[in-house]
Amino acid sequence: MIEQDGVRVVRRGKVWLVGAGPGDPELLTLKAHRLVSQAAVLAYDELVSPEILALAPPSAERIPVGRRAAGCRHHEARIPPMVVVRAIEGHDVVRLKGGDPMVFGRGGEEAEELDAARVPFELVPGISAALGAAASTGIPLTHRDVASSVTFATAHAATGEVNLDEVARGSGTVVFYMGLGRLEATCDSLVAAGRAKGTPAAVVSKATRPDQRVVVGTLANIAARVRAEGIEAPALLLVGDVVARRVVSIASAPVDVEQSLSGSVADP
Ligand code: SAH
Repeated sequence: MIEQDGVRVVRRGKVWLVGAGPGDPELLTLKAHRLVSQAAVLAYDELVSPEILALAPPSAERIPVGRRAAGCRHHEARIPPMVVVRAIEGHDVVRLKGGDPMVFGRGGEEAEELDAARVPFELVPGISAALGAAASTGIPLTHRDVASSVTFATAHAATGEVNLDEVARGSGTVVFYMGLGRLEATCDSLVAAGRAKGTPAAVVSKATRPDQRVVVGTLANIAARVRAEGIEAPALLLVGDVVARRVVSIASAPVDVEQSLSGSVADP
């Protein structure tokens, strides 16, 4: 509360729209880490991992938001009303979102709503799931030999069916977000639009988390393999020749000195 011309004015709080990354708490930016560890009010999506929420002070007010909390999958993009209420009351609010707020994170829409409510905001980027998955699986998203572009796409869109013709053309990598439920249909559409059935494909579930799982195949068989393995959301579908260029480091087991000297360790 401040005095201005004899009138008592409540200073509006600011809302920080913060990317929490794909799950591993060490992938938070320093800025996100600072904001979460100092938060008095924390609103968070279901995608944000418990280890990250545990960084907030025990006294912080926690506001769960998201599809499950809202009770339906396709609720309208809305900044949670309680976030606006707290900001108007004068509290700063940390609004944590999985990955990056501006990649299928509705960060733009939420920022527009905050602006319409005359609430100041600031965006803080995070590591998007595609980038986390690339590092944690060793699948490059671009590669000088096989892919000179990468497209982030979604099998779902606010307007319904997504036209995949554009991303199916050419040989660039395509990463599908929110695609697990429509995996078969997505692969079929890509093939119908011109991608070869034998194009390598991978599904990465819970990327960067301890329970990460990876299934590799082709556009023709990845959906069946994923079903057989019982893969769970959140998951990404990666399509393109980069999947065949996956790099895996040798295990960091203790080295046998004699073997190492004879050179056999370097040649597994
Ligand atoms: N803003 C987020 C994306 C939100 S949309 C980002 O930048 O990553 C939600 C989708 O993101 C999920 O359906 C899934 O496709 C993907 N996703 C988020 N976290 C993930 C993870 N740890 N592993 C695999 N996919 C993930």
